[in-house]
Amino acid sequence: MERSSAVPDFSKPHILILGGTTEAATLARSLADGFSDRLALTTSLAGRTRAPGALPGQVRSGGFGGAEALADYLKDQRVAIVIDATHPFATQISANAVTACETASVPRLALSRAPWKVTPGDNWTYFDSVEAAAENLTQFGRRAFLTVGIQELAPFASLADIWFLVRLIDRPADLAPFSDFQAITGRGPFSVEGERELMESHKIDVLVSKASGGTATAAKLEAARLLGLPVVMVRRPPPPVGPVVHDVPAAIDWIIVRLGS
Ligand code: NAP
Repeated sequence: MERSSAVPDFSKPHILILGGTTEAATLARSLADGFSDRLALTTSLAGRTRAPGALPGQVRSGGFGGAEALADYLKDQRVAIVIDATHPFATQISANAVTACETASVPRLALSRAPWKVTPGDNWTYFDSVEAAAENLTQFGRRAFLTVGIQELAPFASLADIWFLVRLIDRPADLAPFSDFQAITGRGPFSVEGERELMESHKIDVLVSKASGGTATAAKLEAARLLGLPVVMVRRPPPPVGPVVHDVPAAIDWIIVRLGS
């Protein structure tokens, strides 16, 4: 586990953002811009991305060591509020945050992207897991644009009769056992035109996505609709218990009400 060496200013309410998402970074920047004289801010990252973007306030990196250790951290660091702005599919850290905040009596808010809604012309088929999506993929196409993230690649790697365009944030040293693929890197937000060109130039006939929601990666869905392509969609897990907001301004409003100013 890595930790940042800097210590937050304990004379101000200390906000911990569980991050690793565009929304978490936007929230950190908005809080720093508007409230840095009144708040101490720490963003926690899992430490998986090689070069995360710059963030204001303290940044710590690496797991806490489970829910109990997270509760100890909240007490040690006198955290006043936790904003769980992790990815909707990052269910373990969100569950840990629920338990830890209960243990340490710290208020917690989930900032979770608004789910995507099907619009006319969309051709989405939902599966409950990446494994089920992979098992059924050949029903939909043979040249797949795979956008499920590095941790979910394994179920697709053994599908020998499908060519993959694999998009990741960081390029891994090795994508074995994928045999027939091209790997590209990219970090949202993406444009509809860019996504359309990418899919057309690689003759993609199916898009594979997790139902992550939000705006940063939604352009691929519109591009798929414009191109008449099917989307194999992995269903989103339920949100953590407790209060949930879908955007940064609503999270800031919640923090202001909680802190009473
Ligand atoms: P996960 O399965 O829910 O968490 C696994 C473990 O990683 C947690 O138990 C925790 O370790 C550590 N961890 C996760 N997020 C952390 C954070 N923000 N700060 C400190 N420790 C963290 O998480 P995941 O799905 O692997 O996602 C890891 C990170 O990538 C998250 O921050 C998430 O926001 C981001 N992300 C995930 C996805 C996705 O599709 N899953 C997509 C984009 C970004 P300990 O138990 O040791 O504390």
